[in-house]
Amino acid sequence: MRTVVAKFGGTSLASAAQFIKVQEIVKADPDRRFVVASAPGKRFPEDIKVTDLLLRCYEAAAGENDFEPILEQIALRFREIIAQLGIDFPLDNEIDILRNHLQRDPQEDYVVSRGEYLNSRILAVFLGYTFVDPEWCVCFDENGSLNLPMTRRAMTAALRPLNNAVIAGFYGADMSGRIHTLSRGGSDVTGSLAAAALKADLYENWTDVSGLLAADPRIVDSPRTVKYVSYRELRTLSYMGASVLHTDAVLPVSDMDIPINIRNTDRPEDAGTTIVRKLPKGAKKDPIIAVAGQRGMSVIQVEKVMVSDGSGFSAIMLDILRNRQLPFEQCLTGIDTVTLVIRSDYLVQCKESLFEEIREKLNPDYLGLKENLSMIAVIGEKGTEVSDANVRVLQALTAAGISISTMNQGAGKLNLLVGVPEEYYTEAIRAIYSTIEEHTS
Ligand code: ASP
Repeated sequence: MRTVVAKFGGTSLASAAQFIKVQEIVKADPDRRFVVASAPGKRFPEDIKVTDLLLRCYEAAAGENDFEPILEQIALRFREIIAQLGIDFPLDNEIDILRNHLQRDPQEDYVVSRGEYLNSRILAVFLGYTFVDPEWCVCFDENGSLNLPMTRRAMTAALRPLNNAVIAGFYGADMSGRIHTLSRGGSDVTGSLAAAALKADLYENWTDVSGLLAADPRIVDSPRTVKYVSYRELRTLSYMGASVLHTDAVLPVSDMDIPINIRNTDRPEDAGTTIVRKLPKGAKKDPIIAVAGQRGMSVIQVEKVMVSDGSGFSAIMLDILRNRQLPFEQCLTGIDTVTLVIRSDYLVQCKESLFEEIREKLNPDYLGLKENLSMIAVIGEKGTEVSDANVRVLQALTAAGISISTMNQGAGKLNLLVGVPEEYYTEAIRAIYSTIEEHTS
């Protein structure tokens, strides 16, 4: 029998109607034996996530203000779900326990974690699965950081003997029993930890979109869903702002070659996006999978005759940035030039003094700053070799009359990064997307 870990996000479990969809999905495949659940999310755009209500409730209690109205709002969300599902659940007891905690010496992480705790217990009753409290198997150090080796051992011990289980996402505890939460969206990480501990065949991440899109839908009309993406490509996509999965959720499963399948609870018939290291037999992957970008970039250019003679010019330049703890996006060196791409926000406070320091330490022949640029990544592990695909991208930009300010392709061949003036950002994304589309299977 295969083992599938299915994680359901907040919108997938926001109401009784969503619980019913989740039940149908789980029951449709007997391999879906381990389920990880988030707290109820938004039912409509103006709605408030239960996690945010809990946070407000904690803040009210910690500030010695009246938290009862918010606690009642939280209770109401769960009461509705329980009543509409027609199940037996001791909600009043649970709310009393939370109330007592809030009245004593409230702990933020404990309070905020109760959304996942309650929702998962309710889902376990509804599915007829065993409830597993991550308090016992997601292990934190006293300083609040996740202890991966301990978690792996504890999760394996807790889950292996079970036929099925619902595990609450988003939190765990340290050795003294104190609850710690992961960062927001952290149930993705719990799912990944469970999949790794169980050596699962597949980690399904059920959410409210049918996977990763090949371009930003606010710029490109109905962009294609990416079928397969490698872990490395996903990393670039997330870095460029595509946020379907918590970034820390990749490592535990990628280390063990467990594929992640992003699926849509509202459209279970869609295949979604699968994140893999190796493609399954017979599957085809497009050479360029997506185009993504970011605005708000600046470029610093430093030139000096004989920079490339081993005088350590680039090293001094990078030292200047490091000492100032000023992160950079890209560093391109050429004959007698160093070009640095930096987020414009980071330069606002320090532009003058940075330039003064560069002049003082490097005495450059030329020091220039270009602002209002955007960086566009053409992503595809196989597609960005110096090849047809690259040429097509550059042709498309030139044909659209867009000037290219910088171009960067390392030997890693994962992305081609092009810098274009911000006013051409959307046009450039559209031009690149249509050329990718013309050549996709
Ligand atoms: N409920 C938490 C949040 O809203 C964690 C999660 O949903 O993954 O961030």
